[in-house]
Amino acid sequence: MRFLLLLLLLPLLPACGAAKKEPLSPIGSSVSFSTGPIVVLDSGHGGNDHGAKAHKPYCEEKRLTLQTTRLVKKYLAQLGYHVIMTRSSDTFVPLDKRVEIANKAGSEIFVSIHFNSSRNPTPKGIEVFFCDAVGSPAKTSSSRRLASFVLTQLIRRTHAVSRGVKKQNFYVIRETKMPAILVEAGFISNQQEREQLKDPAYVDQLARAIADGVDQYFKKKV
Ligand SMILES: [Zn+2]
Repeated sequence: MRFLLLLLLLPLLPACGAAKKEPLSPIGSSVSFSTGPIVVLDSGHGGNDHGAKAHKPYCEEKRLTLQTTRLVKKYLAQLGYHVIMTRSSDTFVPLDKRVEIANKAGSEIFVSIHFNSSRNPTPKGIEVFFCDAVGSPAKTSSSRRLASFVLTQLIRRTHAVSRGVKKQNFYVIRETKMPAILVEAGFISNQQEREQLKDPAYVDQLARAIADGVDQYFKKKV
């Protein structure tokens, strides 16, 4: 009798196991992340290229850019965007490779994240750059719009000094084919701003603001 029961149950066991696994299928979870627009996030510097540095408290741009970019990725993914990072660890990635990643991915926008530095310890605040794209007025105007949304959100959340939206010929925002901006999210060389940048809660606000600005750009697209 016991043997008969076992025989009856055996064919059911593998089927039950498979059914249980179904909701955990990686295919199901990746679909929700790939339906939104593709956004490439570029974490400035990395590896041997440390970027700006300052002491008391010690602060290194390459670490701060990666910390911020990872958080921006998290918030954009939560909003349904498909996010690609040009680097996700402390490695050196040449500028042309960063551009290539964005162009090959067919990204809708490119956002490069940096922190500022000056020999003079006084300057502080946040500025966002876009490039005047020769022969592509559509890229120029979209980049300017994106820069404006992101800067507005950054100032709203942090109350930092706004240094404005500015035009600049930086390689990564010039050579990328899609609308592109470069965010300078504070001065490592300014003591007060450096102390804020050491606070994870402040960096989290920066990341949320960048994600919100990107989201507004897509939602208010004309
Ligand atoms: Zn930089």
